[in-house]
Amino acid sequence: MANGRIYNFSAGPSMLPLEVLERAGKEITNYQGSGMSVMEMSHRSKVFQKIFDDTKAKFKKLMAVPDDYEVLFLQGGASTQFSAIPLNLIGSTGKADYAVTGNFSNLAYQEAKKYGDIAVACTSEDQDFSYIPTQDKIVVRPDASYFYYCANNTIYGTEWQYIPETGNVPIVCDMSSDICSRQVDVSRYGVIYAGAQKNLAPAGVTIVIVKKELAGHELPITPKMLGWQIEIEKDSMYNTPPCWCIYMLGLVCDWLESQGGVAGMETIKHGKAQMLYDVIDNSRLFHCAAQPGSRSDMNVTFRTDSAELDAKFVAESTEQGFSNLKGHRKVGGMRASIYNAMPIEGVEKLCEFIKHFDQNN
Ligand SMILES: *Cc1c(COP(=O)(O)O)cnc(C)c1O
Repeated sequence: MANGRIYNFSAGPSMLPLEVLERAGKEITNYQGSGMSVMEMSHRSKVFQKIFDDTKAKFKKLMAVPDDYEVLFLQGGASTQFSAIPLNLIGSTGKADYAVTGNFSNLAYQEAKKYGDIAVACTSEDQDFSYIPTQDKIVVRPDASYFYYCANNTIYGTEWQYIPETGNVPIVCDMSSDICSRQVDVSRYGVIYAGAQKNLAPAGVTIVIVKKELAGHELPITPKMLGWQIEIEKDSMYNTPPCWCIYMLGLVCDWLESQGGVAGMETIKHGKAQMLYDVIDNSRLFHCAAQPGSRSDMNVTFRTDSAELDAKFVAESTEQGFSNLKGHRKVGGMRASIYNAMPIEGVEKLCEFIKHFDQNN
């Protein structure tokens, strides 16, 4: 790759498009003649307000966000929303139902239990979170305030291939690790949220897309900084927003548009993942951790039958200039995170390396 950059398969923070980094680099000391960096600007200045408004408009267009939804740019990462979601939403009935399909949905579920009567709507723990439950396995109480799931399980490498049917119960979805990688009908959701550092921007901004009618009913104990209504009223500027990250998000939105928008990206990313899964499925040594039908296009988890061989693979891949292919410490094996910004050549090179390793061990 150019500039001595390597193919970085990190699960997050992860690769950003080279074009985006180069443009940010060019503008880093003097943003478009303003005489200052975006990092040094007042968030109340005209020049930053334009960056903010443009970024929001571009993101809304990319995701086709309907007008009865607000897009918020908040801080605290996806994990802060694990608390904000029950605080903002559970007031209506005191109950909520969670699909527990991996690490982050489990953390969200555990956190929500502090605030109400929380039930497990479905789980895939019985088979080490290697699959996504089917619709018939999901139990949603009709009086739940919301149903919660995580679209892509970053650690286990599974991804929902359908939007669950929940009747009148609003759906809340953590899309931290697959947002803008596939088309989403936002109107099917009550809330969509994502930490930016997998697919969208540097760590530091969390995007929350909230149906406006669902905000404004937070529990009285809700910390002011976690309430969505105040952020809707203040257009994400109740306090200083993550200015630099919002600017970077705007650049990533431009880049996504140049790739054919989310529809274009969906084709590209699916092709990349399919290439990798085919090589793994056709190998002698490797097999996928996730079950067919539940496999993630973003985080491809695979392993051999030997922890020693896995370690050898990781060590040799590092020598060959691939980084971060070691699986999460919770599951072992390997994981290739191939988010939007991973170039096709990166996946092609990894496929060659896997084939080569397969033949020589
Ligand atoms: C990374 C990740 C999180 C945690 O995000 P933070 O911004 O670090 O809080 C939550 N959910 C999913 C699906 C993730 O991939």
